Amino acid sequence: MMGGNQRWYCRLFVMVSCLTIFVTTPVLAQTDDDGDGERFLRLWTFVRDSFEYPASQTKDLNRALALRKRMVEELQSESFKSISVQQQQGVHIWEALRNEGNVLKQLGRYKEAADAYLQAQSEYTKYGSKPPRDCRIEVAQIYVEGKMYDEATKTFDELIASGDSQQKKLARIGLVDIHEKQGKRGPTGEKEEEKTFLQTCKFVKESLEYPAVEAQSHGEFERALALRKRAVEELTAITYQSKSIQDSQYFDVYSNVSAQVDILKSLRRAEEGIQAYTQATDMRDKHFGQTTDRRRAIGGIYAACGMVDKAIEKYEDVAKSDKVLERYGAHIALSQTYLDQKNLKLAEKQLTDMLDDKQIKESPRLLRGCRVWLQNYYARQKRAEDEKRMLALLDDRHCPKCGSDKNVIRIVYGRSTCGSSASTEEVEQGGCCWAVEAPGWRCKTDQVTF
Ligand SMILES: [Zn+2]
Repeated sequence: MMGGNQRWYCRLFVMVSCLTIFVTTPVLAQTDDDGDGERFLRLWTFVRDSFEYPASQTKDLNRALALRKRMVEELQSESFKSISVQQQQGVHIWEALRNEGNVLKQLGRYKEAADAYLQAQSEYTKYGSKPPRDCRIEVAQIYVEGKMYDEATKTFDELIASGDSQQKKLARIGLVDIHEKQGKRGPTGEKEEEKTFLQTCKFVKESLEYPAVEAQSHGEFERALALRKRAVEELTAITYQSKSIQDSQYFDVYSNVSAQVDILKSLRRAEEGIQAYTQATDMRDKHFGQTTDRRRAIGGIYAACGMVDKAIEKYEDVAKSDKVLERYGAHIALSQTYLDQKNLKLAEKQLTDMLDDKQIKESPRLLRGCRVWLQNYYARQKRAEDEKRMLALLDDRHCPKCGSDKNVIRIVYGRSTCGSSASTEEVEQGGCCWAVEAPGWRCKTDQVTF
């Protein structure tokens, strides 16, 4: 259980770092004068040393629970103006409440444990924007553990109605589980076929997929590969009649074959990796009735396996494609490959060549992407003048359609919607994730982003 927590901690750390880098840097600069950052660090250090550390050390669950509860109280006791500090505070409270839930679970106090998880979710929403993950599946599983089947069924039903596809599937598996535990037949109207499929999924997930992820994270690639291959065998052992089951089956098989590609890259077995990639892509193309250009991905497998010449050959082939997105991707891949080879001249040429490509120049998104890549490249080479020139171009807010900069607003990414910003500039929320090609501005006259 500790392992799981630590993993989440790392992911959170990455997430918070991303938020800080891309979004809150200017805000932080303005409010740091109040010493929020330093004050929070003092609070956190105190909480960590006085409660967190002893709670994780003690074997006495009741004492651990008391410490965890105190931890939450202490973390909530101060308030901060800086948005980025508020977010850090939210993450720590979220984590602390979930840990409290874990202790309650171990004590067999399942209802309270589920409540702690739910509270963690709502607390996080208060401080940050969207919680790092939806905890409802975990809450339902706590209910199952505590034999609170009605509550569990209700939560699973909710997830089937409103969750994403992964949550829906886990919820269906959960329902099958409850029915088994209660010694009933499948849910009303459920076909035998669906039940068989869901039981297979449950077995594959628990005995093969989770252990495969674990093995891969410990660098046991051969074992991970064998588990993934077994998963494909198990999932394809039965032919189903229902179309919707066939669709789910396709998705599960596809994800297990794709996972093999990554493992084979780590094992530096290019030809087998390409074989698995081709198998997965054939499946996907057949499923969606499309054809994927595979050359760039194959180049990527060669590159990951250290076969640079073969990778470059593939990429150069794609760089001649008549599809602008393929060309763009190939140039970026070539530039990165040359950079890894320390061939600076060719790395730069790949990026500057794109600026002469008519179709790329005419696409605000791709043009912006090129400039960001170039700016990063100049920054890495410490070419300050060139970097400044690129930054000026990136910061140019003249609309490509009307040529004016009068009715243009900045698009920001990842900023939490709560709390007041120190800036009075009108901005647009651009979603939580930032990508290289993401537009930086919107012209309100033409409703175009660039
Ligand atoms: Zn305009």
